[in-house]
Amino acid sequence: TNIFKEGLTKTRTAFVEKVEELILRRKKIDEQFYEELEEILIGADVGVNTVMQLIDELRAEVKKRKIEDAADLQPILSEKLIGLMKGDDHSALRMASSGITVILFVGVNGVGKTTTIGKLAHKFKSEGKSVLLAAGDTFRAGAIEQLEVWGQRVGVDVIKQQSGSDPAAVMFDAVQAAKQRGVDVLLCDTAGRLQNKTNLMEELNKIFRVIQRELPDAPHEVLLVLDATTGQNALSQAKLFGEKSGVTGLVLTKLDGTAKGGIVIAIRNELNLPVKLVGLGEKMGDLQQFDSEQFVHALFA
Ligand code: GDP
Repeated sequence: TNIFKEGLTKTRTAFVEKVEELILRRKKIDEQFYEELEEILIGADVGVNTVMQLIDELRAEVKKRKIEDAADLQPILSEKLIGLMKGDDHSALRMASSGITVILFVGVNGVGKTTTIGKLAHKFKSEGKSVLLAAGDTFRAGAIEQLEVWGQRVGVDVIKQQSGSDPAAVMFDAVQAAKQRGVDVLLCDTAGRLQNKTNLMEELNKIFRVIQRELPDAPHEVLLVLDATTGQNALSQAKLFGEKSGVTGLVLTKLDGTAKGGIVIAIRNELNLPVKLVGLGEKMGDLQQFDSEQFVHALFA
């Protein structure tokens, strides 16, 4: 069974069912067909640049294979979509070869950072790894408590200081605690306020430096968390954050709640950043390692 299938129901309805309807209705691949296909893809948040590229590639392939029947297009469309997302499909998380693996989470408030940290802590724990969380969002009211709720739910400790304290100091404490306890994985939350962007970038840089000073190979991943329901906004956030904060990979959350799943295709195609994880629900187990082939197959299943 395909791990993405259930979570992608809404995107499948908005995107693939429309493509299937188009194929049945128009029967032949002509200009009108391409125009309507383009509209459907843009509507599913695949993004204009990626759609243009895809349509060009489809045209070329259709011409090469001398296809006229729209019914023969679907396997080519799947193939091209997978192709667009390939190139650099390194979705496995980079782990320390020995000692502590540090993963830093960045992203704006509300995208699902805390939830993702909780889910990932659960995943590591169920693999027999010891996990520690660091409450690095000392800015947003309630952020520390929210992380603690996840810590209790999963059964892992949270290293924290009081609200308003220096996040870099929290990280220093967290790394010391991780060393003392000999934990396998340290998952670090950070602030995600959008106002004061410059300050936030400085704050993230400082956190980065503190961690690196204590553990030269860390952080092993800096994951930017994006809310898939925001569609093209997620793509802009990725461009903005991705350039500045040493991001090594992306997490796309809330794919279950959106018809805009096409954004994953746009992000994979337009950015040089791998999608590492996707969130497919609010529960502990609703986090999956990304796989572009399975993703596209889930859409057309
Ligand atoms: P943060 O501000 O970035 O830490 O965001 P939170 O982790 O608090 O998440 C914001 C909201 O999104 C919460 O209500 C979560 O339950 C919800 N959420 C997070 N990830 C997912 C997901 O993959 N699917 C769904 N449906 N909801 C999610």
